[in-house]
Amino acid sequence: MKTSTLNIGHLSNADLLSRFGKLVQTERKITHLVLECIAEIDARKLFLDKAYPSLYEFLVQEFGYSSSAALRRIESARLLREVPEVAVKIESGALNLSQLSKVQQAVRAVQKIADRKLDIEEKKELLNRIEHTTQQQTEVILCQALSLPVLVENKERVHRDESVTLTITFSKEQIAILKQAQDLVAHAVSEQNWAEAITYLAKKEIQRRTKLREATQVTTAAGVRIKSDTDKSKNMATDKDIGIRPTSAVRNEHQNSNETKTQNKIQPQSLTHPGRKPLRTSIKKTILNHDKCCQFKDHSTGKICGSTRFLQVDHRQAVWAGGSNDLQNLEILCSQHNQHKYRQESFLD
Ligand SMILES: [Zn+2]
Repeated sequence: MKTSTLNIGHLSNADLLSRFGKLVQTERKITHLVLECIAEIDARKLFLDKAYPSLYEFLVQEFGYSSSAALRRIESARLLREVPEVAVKIESGALNLSQLSKVQQAVRAVQKIADRKLDIEEKKELLNRIEHTTQQQTEVILCQALSLPVLVENKERVHRDESVTLTITFSKEQIAILKQAQDLVAHAVSEQNWAEAITYLAKKEIQRRTKLREATQVTTAAGVRIKSDTDKSKNMATDKDIGIRPTSAVRNEHQNSNETKTQNKIQPQSLTHPGRKPLRTSIKKTILNHDKCCQFKDHSTGKICGSTRFLQVDHRQAVWAGGSNDLQNLEILCSQHNQHKYRQESFLD
């Protein structure tokens, strides 16, 4: 039974290799075009309209990319946007997605370890140096050039029974700390059982944080935090109904865009709205128990975001537009969609 539409069994060895060579070239060209699209979708944040909380989830769930394939493409697309010269190198085969992804990881590591942001010229120089090298050689070159410890990629493998094998590399200092902690909990876990020890330590930390939060905030078992009414000054600055301010990360992403300008224009008027009353904690609890996750909906498909991270209470109709604090006017949104909705409303104005 034929499984392909094209029978290539009759091709001579030379023709087969020639055909393969051409297809590889096409594949690289398409890879570059795919990255361009991903970069543009990222810039326009189109995944939010489609009720996904992130580009990563959009690529994995909507387009079927594996987790690692999606991450490599996102990293590469962002680098391509910053250094457009990368396109030619992808098409020529001088650089591949894994290498680009490694460069991005190294750039982040430098920022974290040395608190230094690499400029475009430095990135170009790194990219030149890793052309036509293997993944291992790329890692060595990056580590040496940036004086980084070995770049480690953590791996996660899910088994049929949903157990997970993690491959994690710890630095000398990190493993010393972990062993010290393991000794401290030796009474509670089996000897040398890292899974038990790490889980035990994680549980203790979760319990500790939950107790801390319960004292001042509304907290769910999943660690989702809703700002409490007791912290009115923070509410004034972050609740969407009076004009949400983006987090520093989002602010950085948008510092050059018109969106931020629009937000800034709206805020003063909203902040001074006289009718605004803070939400009662009991109402926040009720709405969170009811919705449980982000309710942002893509009306063309009916898909609901469903994210359980960074949840916020949203007024369906904003207070400054006459919306009330009634339950019917409240819903849960993730911070990404809360901001997205606010930006949309700002543009409508
Ligand atoms: Zn969401």
